Parts: sequence; C-alpha cells; structure tokens
Amino acid sequence: MTITRFAPSPNGPLHLGHAFSAIVAHDRALRDGGEFLLRIEDIDGARSRPELAAEFRDDLGWLQLAYREVAPQSARIASYRTAANELRAMGILYPCTCTRAEVAAAAVAHGPDGPLYPGTCLRRGPVPGPNAAWRLDMEQAALLAGTLEWTDERHGRQIATPEEFGDVILWRKDAPASYHLAATVDDAADGVTHVTRGVDLFRATHIHRLLQHLLGLPVPIWHHHPVLVESDGRKLAKRRDAPALADRRRAGEDGRAVAAEVRATLFDTGISLSDAINQQA
Ligand code: GLU
Repeated sequence: MTITRFAPSPNGPLHLGHAFSAIVAHDRALRDGGEFLLRIEDIDGARSRPELAAEFRDDLGWLQLAYREVAPQSARIASYRTAANELRAMGILYPCTCTRAEVAAAAVAHGPDGPLYPGTCLRRGPVPGPNAAWRLDMEQAALLAGTLEWTDERHGRQIATPEEFGDVILWRKDAPASYHLAATVDDAADGVTHVTRGVDLFRATHIHRLLQHLLGLPVPIWHHHPVLVESDGRKLAKRRDAPALADRRRAGEDGRAVAAEVRATLFDTGISLSDAINQQA
C-alpha cells in the first residue's frame, strides 16, 4: 500500500507552501488508494512551539485533507538513540566538541549545507563528555556502503553522493537527533513508501539513503516537488511573513476552495530542481 506523509516542524505557522506540500502527499496516496500520514517533527529545541501542532491539525482539516497522525518526534527519542548506538557500534560515529564558529574558521571547503567539517575531532580521537555532538565518519560510512542508488518519481534514478556533505552531525549537542537521522528512522517506522517533500531537500536524500543502508532500513521512493516561490522568485517561507493558513482559516475563508485553487494553479510552478541546487551551492 502506498503511504505518504507530511512532516511539518512546529516552529512557525503553516503557509501556502505547506498546503501545497501536504496536498501533493495527500493526493499521491489517494491516487493509489493509500494512506496519508501527519508527523509532527518537534525536536528542534528552542525553535519548537508545541502549541502549533493543534493549529496544523486544524489547517489540514480546513483544507479537507484526511490524515492519520503518527507519533511526534518528541515521543521517539529512544528509537533515534538505538539507531545512533548501532552506528556507533559500527565505528562510524565520533564525538565532536567543535563550535559552529570553530568549524567555520577551520573549514576549507563548502557543501550543500555550509562549511564542510574539517575533521578536527576525528583526528583528536574520542573525547567523551556530555557536551559532544556525534558526527558520521563519512569516508568510512561511504566505504562500507559502496555505490547506492535511489529513485525520485519526478527526477528519475540517482546515484547517492552523501560525501558532498562531509561528516554530518547525527546526534546534536543541544537537541537529540539531527533531522537526517530522525526523519530516516521515522519514515521506516511509519512504513512510508513515498517520501514527498520540497525539492529544497533533494540533496539531503543522499544522506538518508546512506543511513537506510547502514541501518538496514527499507528504501522508499522519493517525490521531491517544486517549492513555491514569491513573485520576486524567493522561496515562500514562514520566516518571511507569508500569510498563515491559520489566519485565513480564522478569517472565514473556505479551505476547500483554497485547496482547489492550489491543485488547479500551483502544481507546476516554483523552484525547479536545478534552481534549488544552484541556490544551495
Ligand atoms: N520537518 C521538515 C520541515 O518542516 C520536513 C522534513 C521532510 O519532509 O523530510 O521542513
């Protein structure tokens, strides 16, 4: 059975870009008579505002998108810990005490998410302590995994190139698991068969594919949809004051009509894959 999910982080209200993402996932599941899940990704430390989850549920109801809610990330920390322990036992996680500023100062190359970690703590050897993050030893991990492929419904077959991210953090100092580890573990636990999300996360999938291999998890199909843009071409983002769905809902707008408009007019607009990649580069 086809299972898709919408996985918003409650660090700001949902806007039209989220409606689009939810509709893509919902309609993709519906097309196959499958199931559409809601998962609240609420482990982003200080930025997370748990009270927003209730608004998200109301927003989806207003848009007439039927969903089944699965456990929020805050209820799944034990499973992330188990996964991290598994990677640690394989000898491919190492503790890192560098600050963001230290990494930026020492980095000699940049990846899709910013400065590549220069390996300072890998060479230093284990420095146990409560204040360490845990990084993936990407070189060792990639060696173990060999060549991996994944498939995107819109963009075809891909060869995974997680090396471009360097030694990513999988366990954070200030919050439990990183997005990469948590989302990968969750999608497997939730039985997600089609991971639908914005094309701005396309490259992150290289890391997720590697983690699936290392952790022996099933491999879904991906569907990276375009990301809505504002008239000036920039990504429609909550931090830039895009109108919140909740405000439109409270103002009495018809959610079914909003969803219909999204379906009719927005499906093939927005940032393309090449634009998303250029923007990150
Ligand atoms: N929680 C992420 C966000 O709100 C989405 C992650 C995903 O769909 O994999 O941007």
